[in-house]
Amino acid sequence: MAARNGRRKNTGNPAQFTTLKVRLYPTPEQEELFGKTFGCCRYIWNQMLSDQQRFYNETGAFFIPTPAKYKTGAPFLKEVDNQALIQEHNKLSQAFRVFFRDPEHFGHPNFKRKKSDRDSFTACNHVFESGPTIYTTRDGVRMTKAGIVRAKFSRRPQAWWKLKRITVDKTRTGKYYGYILYEHTEKEPVPVVPTEETTVGLKYSMQHFYVDSGGAAADPPRWKKQAQEKLAGLQRSLNRMQPGSRNYREAVQKFYQIHEHIANQRRDYIHKESRRIANAWDAVCVRADEMNELNRIMGLGNVHDSGYGMFRECLRYKLARQGKPLLMVDRSFPSTRTCSVCGCVMPEEISTRRRTWTCPRCGANLKRETNAARNIKAQGLAQYFHMQERRESA
Ligand SMILES: [Zn+2]
Repeated sequence: MAARNGRRKNTGNPAQFTTLKVRLYPTPEQEELFGKTFGCCRYIWNQMLSDQQRFYNETGAFFIPTPAKYKTGAPFLKEVDNQALIQEHNKLSQAFRVFFRDPEHFGHPNFKRKKSDRDSFTACNHVFESGPTIYTTRDGVRMTKAGIVRAKFSRRPQAWWKLKRITVDKTRTGKYYGYILYEHTEKEPVPVVPTEETTVGLKYSMQHFYVDSGGAAADPPRWKKQAQEKLAGLQRSLNRMQPGSRNYREAVQKFYQIHEHIANQRRDYIHKESRRIANAWDAVCVRADEMNELNRIMGLGNVHDSGYGMFRECLRYKLARQGKPLLMVDRSFPSTRTCSVCGCVMPEEISTRRRTWTCPRCGANLKRETNAARNIKAQGLAQYFHMQERRESA
């Protein structure tokens, strides 16, 4: 008990962040203000970026002017929340920081276009003596300049959470959402020590989403197939239509609606499924970065994204809140071509077309995905116990 208390004191109660998504229902005036804010944010981003480039070309030094510098030349910037403009400066600086650090992964910041970039702005909350600049009411969110915007909450913040900032987004289908970021400290849960019986291994499966080490498969997410069929049909009819015609515009709108619908369904499924697993098991073993790799190989985008990466992230924090670990197995670990019965490693990858294979050494008949999930579980647990031993001997 003393040891546990000691450890908890060392780690402290770190700050956690939670984002609440709320649907916003702006009045026509607020909608107009939001529209102006989106435009001003794009404008200031592009101005700062072009000045940064000019400055760099002329002097070789890196410098981004602040939004304040542009207000005399572009007085319309004064009509919108100054915080939103300052955030554009922060976002651009951040975009350059990650670009300088890792140019391979993060491209050079680009100019924003109304057509292709999302309508979005972010504003930070400032707490003055007179009160905070952003706060929530029973059925609204108070923002600078806009005042109280009517909002529907699916979840409420706890009283002790601190509102840090809000991002307002307009979807392509014309809906408004607010993403409110809160900071809070929670008591750290007592760590759960997993056992063989209370741990599950998950293998990503194209067909089933995942297969677990007990041989159970997730329900194939139906939304994917249905939506893909709908989208393909719509794509075909779009090809026949006159671009810019009313029918065409309506079809494009429909296209966005389906996209939105898929995204919502996928999110619901992932939250439900990850909650179920996090409650049922004490530890979950998965393979690291499998999805990024798969997406890269197959060039998969938004709609076709299975959501497995998001699923894993949901699992991680849902487990962490209960003091349970998500055990990541290195992606170079040969989970598929190792026999989970005798440990024999095959020289070649088992083809994804083969559902079963037979181990040449021990003769076990192995289901490809279940076998991989078992290996992921065994490896994850082995890593975990190895780490625990090292921690204890240190
Ligand atoms: Zn074997």
